[in-house]
Parts: sequence; C-alpha cells; structure tokens
Amino acid sequence: MPDTYDILIVGGGMTGASLACALGGTALRVGVIEAAPVKNGAQPSFDTRTTALTWGTQRILEAIGVWPDVAAHAVPIKKTHVSDQGRFGFTRLDCADYRLDALGYVVENRLLGKALLDTLQRHANIEFICPARVQDVETGADAASITLHAGQGSRQLSARLLVIADGRHSTARERLNIKTSGRVYNQSAIITSVTPERGHEYTAFERFTPGGPLAVLPMSGTRCAVVWVAPAGQVPALLALDENTFLAQLQRQFGGRLGKFSQLGARREYALELMRAAELTRPRAVLIGNAAHTLHPVAAQGLNLGLRDVAVLARLLCEAARHGTDPGAAGLLDEYARLRRSDHAAVTAFTDGLVRIFSSDFAPLALMRNIGLLAADLLPPVKNYLARRSAGVAHAKLAVMLNESRRKSA
Ligand SMILES: Cc1cc2nc3c(=O)[nH]c(=O)nc-3n(C[C@H](O)[C@H](O)[C@H](O)COP(=O)(O)OP(=O)(O)OC[C@H]3O[C@@H](n4cnc5c(N)ncnc54)[C@H](O)[C@@H]3O)c2cc1C
Repeated sequence: MPDTYDILIVGGGMTGASLACALGGTALRVGVIEAAPVKNGAQPSFDTRTTALTWGTQRILEAIGVWPDVAAHAVPIKKTHVSDQGRFGFTRLDCADYRLDALGYVVENRLLGKALLDTLQRHANIEFICPARVQDVETGADAASITLHAGQGSRQLSARLLVIADGRHSTARERLNIKTSGRVYNQSAIITSVTPERGHEYTAFERFTPGGPLAVLPMSGTRCAVVWVAPAGQVPALLALDENTFLAQLQRQFGGRLGKFSQLGARREYALELMRAAELTRPRAVLIGNAAHTLHPVAAQGLNLGLRDVAVLARLLCEAARHGTDPGAAGLLDEYARLRRSDHAAVTAFTDGLVRIFSSDFAPLALMRNIGLLAADLLPPVKNYLARRSAGVAHAKLAVMLNESRRKSA
C-alpha cells in the first residue's frame, strides 16, 4: 500500500519549498520530494545566483513566514536605472517618489533556500523527503500516485493532490504528457559579481545592448551581482577569458557609471528559454513555478510570477483545509487555473516582447523604444504606472488574502 498524503509537492526548489511553508501549520499532511541533496550545495534552485524580488513578492514571503529569516540578508532596491547602450533613452525610478521603502530586494538564492528549508522543517505537518527523485506519476479520479527513487530502492506514495514544482525540465509534467510551447533564445546568461569603484547606492541598473540585456544589482556592502546576457555562441569564449580581460569586456558593455569594476566573482552560464505548459491542471495534479512557465531573466520576473502561483494555490488549499473539503477537488483546480492564466500570459508576453524589441537594431524600432524610455522617465503618469508595476504593488493583495486564509486555517 502506498503511503498516503493530502498533498505531495514534487520539487523542493524555490516554489515547491515556498508552497510547503505556506501550508505549514494547517491540518493538511504535506510531503515535499526533492531530488538534490541539501548539504553539498547541489540544489540547483539554491545556487550561487541572486534573485531580484519585487516589493509585492516580499509581502508574500512575509505571509508564509519566511521573510524574518531572509530580511537581514536582503538588499533593498531603492532606485532603478534602465538605458539602451549607445542611444539617448533612459528611465529612472526612485522608491522615495512613491512612498515605498524599496522597489524590491536582492536576495542570494543560497540564503533564500536556507530560509525556506529552515521554515518548512519547523512545521510538524510537512515532511521533507530528500534526496528522492520522482520517476513516475499516475493520476486517477480520487488520488495521484508517484514512484520515487531514494537510496537503493523505490517507494510509492499517493496524495489527493500532486503539485508539480520540479522546474523547467519537469519529469512529472512529461509523465502526464502535458505539452509545452515556447522558444529557445539564442542567448545565455553569465552570472557573476564585481566590486565597482563607486557605491551602488541601492540602485539596480539594466542596460540593453545589441547582444542582450546586462543587469548590475546591489548586493551587501559594495558588491554588485551581474547578469550578463550574451549571444549563446559568444559565451564559451567569454567564460574562457582571464579575469582582467573579462572585467574589461564587461566594463565596455556597462560603461563608467559605477567607475572601474574589480574583484570578479565565479562565473556560471545559464541557457535561456521561453516555455509555457499547455495545461495548468490535470485531475488531481497542478503545475506551479518553472514547471508551468520559464522566462527570460530580462525583467527578473520568473520567481516573482512563481511565488504568485504559490500565493494563489496556498490560499485555495488553506480554505479547503479550514472547511475540511477535498484539496484536490476539480473545482479548486479549475479556480487556480482561472486565477493564474491571465498573469502567466501577460508576464510571458511582456518579457518576450522586451527581448524582441531591445535586441533589434532596426533603426525605426530603436528610435521608438528610446522615445518610450524617455517618455517613461519624463511623464509622471507613465512613470507612476511603471514604478507600481516594477514594485509589484498590485500583488501585495495576494499576500494579504493568503495571510488571512493561513490565520483562519491554523
Ligand atoms: C540567470 C537567471 C536569473 C534569474 N533571475 C531572476 C530574478 O532576478 N528574479 C526572478 O523573479 N526570477 C529570476 N530567475 C528565475 C528563477 O530562478 C526561477 O523562476 C525559479 O528558480 C523557479 O523556481 P522553481 O522552484 O519553480 O524551479 P527550480 O528552481 O527549477 O526548482 C525545481 C526543483 O525541483 C527539483 N527536481 C527536479 N526534478 C525532480 C524530480 N524528478 N524529483 C524531485 N525533485 C526534482 C530540483 O532539484 C529543484 O530543486 C532567474 C533565472 C535565471 C536562469
């Protein structure tokens, strides 16, 4: 007989672990299955990257009880500066103009991962099953069952709801034969860090270059995180450069706004892809995070979008726990899909549109985008809209609703 849970979450990365934290303290028995061992730093979701979170996402992390463990390490983004390399357009935002304490926060994935795992392990109703790899999935009318490989053997588990959170190359999604659409960008991101000569003053810079966007984000002290997107074919040569030559190339792309860069950190490459799953639910199964949508990092939206999946699904599940109803009921899953579809479509179109518009050298398009950047800088209503959107202000209400549901279902 398979061991039985209310909810099984496949993947204990950023979104899977966040959902588990959100369900902590409810009457639901929850299992989280994570393939990568925690201790040796092999967890791909909690690697050496940094993530820019919006002000609205910070509220979600607060609602699920994780923020107190993150706050001391989170660096506020107080200003942003977006420009188009070699052209006239730029846009600046300052949180002080919108009475916000920050537009967002930069957090090291490793530290956010530790905070998530520490938080979920504090809850008696959450079982962290790790290392264990899900190999097979079946769904039926009343339950979903999975086969996982752990240590030397296999185990079967079943649940009233299976949450698929195992990332862009999701095994669980493939086993259910859920189709995907999208495109592979001919670009890769190089992640690293530098110390600029001048202080970052909590400013996040994004500079569009013909090869791809370059982001320089504030970290603690004087360090800055770098996400340099370049044509995929050029990345191996860039990674092979010695440190000084790489720094000089990076400096040429970014310009002198922060003075001279030094102290290059470790460099890692990430291939970039756009992907959306054709279905968000199947009977007794639901997709969240990168398993449902994978984005280009140009607008730093991937995890922000995934944590909104978490906030919406967790609220519906807390309501089910509170009323003693079935957490895998078809009506609940339909409601989740209804609430998430338009956000997925809008954010996917927005990020892909940015990549297309800013990688074109076609002169009329370059002129239009620079006029757009200047208009956003100079026209208060446009600027106000942009600031509220960048900070994810509208999404804070998801956190408020989740907080309320968690409180009532505890
Ligand atoms: C270069 C780069 C920069 C980014 N910067 C930002 C940013 O600034 N802001 C932002 O919002 N987003 C950013 N993102 C996106 C963000 O990293 C992702 O949205 C986020 O990692 C998605 O989390 P996830 O948990 O859904 O998936 P993943 O991070 O892929 O986690 C999936 C988890 O499932 C586990 N797993 C996989 N298969 C199995 C299996 N069969 N059984 C059990 N477990 C399994 C994996 O080990 C992993 O822990 C960036 C992405 C990239 C590539």
